[in-house]
Amino acid sequence: MVATRIDGKAFAAKLRDRIAGQVAALKDEHGITPGLAVVLVGEDPASQVYVASKGKQTKAAGMNSYEHRLPDDASQAELLALIGRLNADPAVHGILVQLPLPKHIDEAEVINAIAVKKDVDGFTTANTGRLATGQKAMVPCTPLGCLMLLRDQLGDLSGKDAVVIGRSNIVGKPMAALLLADSATVTVAHSRTKDLSDVVRRADIVVAAVGRPQMVKGDWIKPGATVIDVGINRTDSGLVGDVDYDGVAAVAGAVTPVPGGVGPMTIACLLANTLTACCRANGLPDPQ
Ligand code: NDP
Repeated sequence: MVATRIDGKAFAAKLRDRIAGQVAALKDEHGITPGLAVVLVGEDPASQVYVASKGKQTKAAGMNSYEHRLPDDASQAELLALIGRLNADPAVHGILVQLPLPKHIDEAEVINAIAVKKDVDGFTTANTGRLATGQKAMVPCTPLGCLMLLRDQLGDLSGKDAVVIGRSNIVGKPMAALLLADSATVTVAHSRTKDLSDVVRRADIVVAAVGRPQMVKGDWIKPGATVIDVGINRTDSGLVGDVDYDGVAAVAGAVTPVPGGVGPMTIACLLANTLTACCRANGLPDPQ
């Protein structure tokens, strides 16, 4: 069997087109333009690339993009003051603080300073709690993108056995919460999990969010399973995921490639969340 290659790049392009259409309609019908503010502290090269790409795609969707760059030695107070101004600015519907922040900054305090309704990354404690308790929330972009690909591939996820490898606050835990909300039976594995390959072999759905190049092998996979590879690992032979693509594709039913799988979905979901935040701020229904 050769697995279906889940084309996240094409899916994300369609999603961005749909969002651009909804943004244009919002402008025509209500005179409103969604705005996303991205805050970057310091000079981390990978973060600079991500922020530039987010700004470009925000504008391409017809939204306003506001970029705020602070020096590496910016103080916690300066950063909090900037977030306070963005919270109060009616033209800004979404605020994203690019992580990681420099070591002297208290990341949790900064994230939690973002107004819950503008928290388009879904990282505030309030949004995390809302997601965990089944309330309307802003959902973190990467797991939201994974969920969209899974629903598109499998339809109803109810009753499926899902294994999420990784328990970070930004990917693994919200991914598990989303799968649970869709009535999958969810196992969260991590570095202390015993017999990981046996645990993974039971799964109809595998989401790998570990950060270890090509760790998940073909003989870990139940025949026909759907495998979502979140990992982005830079190696001497280029960018690879957490999944050994060729080995897994020989057994799985469907698998996302790296690059071209989950990665493009993340920014598309950020745009979707910004549009949703804008609609909610203006008392309009969530875009479908
Ligand atoms: P973290 O480093 O925060 O978390 C990694 C998780 O993997 C931890 O829970 C850790 O367990 C677990 N882990 C580590 N080693 C093993 C092992 N040998 N067996 C089982 N579990 C293990 O990473 P993130 O969640 O932030 O990111 C994961 C990957 O996804 C990275 O490659 C990252 O670059 C990528 N990523 C991709 C995005 C995209 O847009 N496509 C967005 C965000 C991340 P423990 O908790 O016990 O330490």
